[in-house]
Amino acid sequence: MSFASLGLSVPVLDAIAEQGYEAPTPIQLESIPAIIRGRDVMAAAQTGTGKTAGFVLPLLERLSKGDRVRANQIRALILTPTRELAAQVGASVAAYGKNLSLHSAVVFGGVKINPQMMKLRRGADVLVATPGRLLDLYHQNAVKFRQLEVLVLDEADRMLDMGFIDEIQKIIALLPRQRQNLMFSATFSDEIRQLARTIVNDPVEISVNPAETTATTIEQWMCPVDKNRKSALLTQLIKNNNWDQVLVFVRTKNGADRLVRYLQTKDIKAAAIHGDKSQGARTRVLAEFKTGLIRVLVATDLAARGLDINQLPQVVNFDLPHITEDYIHRIGRTGRASLSGRAVSLVCADEFEQLSDIERLIKQLIPRKLIEGFKPVQEVPESHLDLRPIKPRKPKKPKKPKTDSRAGQSVIDTQSQSSKTQKVQARKIK
Ligand code: AMP
Repeated sequence: MSFASLGLSVPVLDAIAEQGYEAPTPIQLESIPAIIRGRDVMAAAQTGTGKTAGFVLPLLERLSKGDRVRANQIRALILTPTRELAAQVGASVAAYGKNLSLHSAVVFGGVKINPQMMKLRRGADVLVATPGRLLDLYHQNAVKFRQLEVLVLDEADRMLDMGFIDEIQKIIALLPRQRQNLMFSATFSDEIRQLARTIVNDPVEISVNPAETTATTIEQWMCPVDKNRKSALLTQLIKNNNWDQVLVFVRTKNGADRLVRYLQTKDIKAAAIHGDKSQGARTRVLAEFKTGLIRVLVATDLAARGLDINQLPQVVNFDLPHITEDYIHRIGRTGRASLSGRAVSLVCADEFEQLSDIERLIKQLIPRKLIEGFKPVQEVPESHLDLRPIKPRKPKKPKKPKTDSRAGQSVIDTQSQSSKTQKVQARKIK
């Protein structure tokens, strides 16, 4: 089945061809015709399935036909939980809409509001926004909803995890009743279904079986190495294998800064992302990493959780994670649509217990590769697969989610993570 048979017109088809997409993914096959027909949609789909194009393409198709947008008005609103996802979806809107005369904008918090107000003056056919900043802009009369035709909630489960439910409800109360609603979520918990009941109207329900989605395989291996030789080994791996876009996970902020300094002395462009970095610095570094200006991005688990970077060719676990499940989250950042990704762990003797826990969780032994010149003095013992089932941790109910304090955020992140673990495992590893 081709994109042309789904009801998309030539300017959109040309933009798709330029992206190099040959055929629609399973979710796109279902979502594109349904959205073009004007139906509400409720889709269970994770990142990596092509879900963004699944709603952006038909949305642009619809918007290319209607009235011109007026000052400060918007015709389609895409709500996302994080700034990074907003920027990423905004980039997709710009890429897929490049041959159309539609205007789009992206707004999120943590940066000055004035430039965003200026951008919205002429109105936007598509506005991608995080909920808090959208409400601020509304209260300043910078955005109006009279012309709104379509509402999209992207990663709705994450929005709830992050405590955005009040903001979402406030926003929905401001929108015209007559509109098309599209809701995307990786999971469909009772809470999400309850929210869906207040938003979507007789929706087409789409659920892509993870096994059918863009086939992603992850090649995992580990290098036993002494702790004090890890930086040198990483440098050698990057240089000898010509890795040009590497996400490296470390356990601590200090460790991240130290590693970046080391790589820079070896002429490898690197930068760190962790909780002590400002939003501006994080956005800049992420953009530089995506465009290739920075070759190695070193991140702590917590900082990486808010970042929408995935489909990378190479992930490195410089330290094994404290929380076993984080291993799955980390390696889930690699693997592009239908291409394979690689995840390498540098493991020292002290980390043997963590290694065994990870292997038990993923139900497989991670193949070992001893790199010449790096045979550890402190040997990493051979591991044996422990096949006893792991008792599922009961996710605790968050008390009152806070979105602005780091402490509140980390509590919520940890919980949402345990509930996602099995699913990611099913999709990426089995
Ligand atoms: P998403 O699930 O929206 O995060 O998209 C995952 C990745 O798949 C992105 O890098 C897209 O550029 C890519 N993608 C989306 N649709 C297709 C397609 N039909 N064929 C190949 N790649 C695609």
